[in-house]
Amino acid sequence: MLHWLSFFYLNCFMLSIYSQAPDRAFLHRSNDPTGRCQYTFTVASPEESTCSGSNTKPEIDGVVSRLTLLEALVSRMIAGADRGDGTGAGPNSKDGLQEAYSHVTRERNQLQQDKESLNKQVQEMQRRLTELNQEAESLRQKPCLQTHATSGAQHENRPISDPRYNQGNGAYQEMKAEVTEVPASHLLPGGYHNFTGCGELRSVGEPVLHRKADSIMGKYGVWLQDPKPQGSIYTNMTVWRIDAVGKDVRQLFAYDDMDQFTRGFPMKVLVLPEPLESTGATLYQGSLYYQRRRSRTLIRYDLTSETLALRTDLPHAGFHGQFPYSWGGYTDIDLAVDEQGLWAIYSTTKAKGAIVISQLDPESLEVKKSWETNIRKNTVANAFMVCGRLYTVASYTATNTTINYVFDTATGEGRALSVPFKNKYRYNSMVDYNHAKRKLYAWDNFHMVTYDVRLGRVTQGSRA
Ligand code: CA
Repeated sequence: MLHWLSFFYLNCFMLSIYSQAPDRAFLHRSNDPTGRCQYTFTVASPEESTCSGSNTKPEIDGVVSRLTLLEALVSRMIAGADRGDGTGAGPNSKDGLQEAYSHVTRERNQLQQDKESLNKQVQEMQRRLTELNQEAESLRQKPCLQTHATSGAQHENRPISDPRYNQGNGAYQEMKAEVTEVPASHLLPGGYHNFTGCGELRSVGEPVLHRKADSIMGKYGVWLQDPKPQGSIYTNMTVWRIDAVGKDVRQLFAYDDMDQFTRGFPMKVLVLPEPLESTGATLYQGSLYYQRRRSRTLIRYDLTSETLALRTDLPHAGFHGQFPYSWGGYTDIDLAVDEQGLWAIYSTTKAKGAIVISQLDPESLEVKKSWETNIRKNTVANAFMVCGRLYTVASYTATNTTINYVFDTATGEGRALSVPFKNKYRYNSMVDYNHAKRKLYAWDNFHMVTYDVRLGRVTQGSRA
């Protein structure tokens, strides 16, 4: 062992001697501090005759660190090769592919569904086009009427004294423009154009803007015209308005006519004896009917004498947020007027939130008869009565919604319905019917609008 060590040191010494000779390359073999054998190639520098010795340490450190990096790189490459793929992502990559595949499958299924739905829409539009063509053909075959007569039919409920329609040629131009703007939804088959009697709701026209409230107090409210005015002060031209925002709502604005209403010039402001709640008030035979704040008390306020004519409770009616419409706003008790008189639309604990309709005596406010429907009040946006039938509006925010339910008090039965209805301003807080004008009045997000409605004869198939 000693002999082998001596030979080794001698050998190392000889190698180190040779390594100092210029222009020669040597292999140096020696033990490192841990006892492992190390090989070193030595190549003489062409410029330097000797090594300073003090600068070799950083160079060696640099080489060692580069080697370490290389080793790490090779290890990673070998590991990747062992996994048998070029990406180095392994099982995760498989999962990723599966997820991408199922995503593409879902997309394809969705596209197929969309395609089917679009096909259905195309078929429906083709069907409607055929109907409209038939309607146009039948109109062409009818004898041509005078333009004035046609216009008159479109505005048969407009008062003759309305100055806008008695101005000769100028008025004629206006009428002509309005007639051409009748929406296509009014061109229904079945001859409803001239139907003026009581019947079922067939269509609702586009909202027509009359006034936009100019303060936050007008976000929601009630505005109406009396379909059956009494007394000498107010007429069926008078427009009434209540801004319903606030805790002490008592101001009732009266306007001479629609023109003054649109301009924003009230003729009078009446102060109600009790504060009003919500947007369910209505006008009938010279009285304002409304729900007193935080109560089920109904009030009849006489417009001519400006006095409280009557106050009485609506038995069992929920109030102040117990059974509101879907938009809330304490819309628990909604009063309505139609061809058959005065109605209350509300709910009770006994009805468990389903809409209850009661016909009221306009003088005494006594309940004459009640009906319980099978539609929940808080699932609909609003309701109104036409010819003894209750109609509900599906949404108060959707631009394109529907009248989705009808309940006939004559038969005591209700059924689903789908008559298109527009909430143009997307926050419709009041919808009421005026049978004298045959229009719906609505308050949609500061905007006071009306809609023409078209009724049709009750057919056997459509009976509720
Ligand atoms: Ca209503």
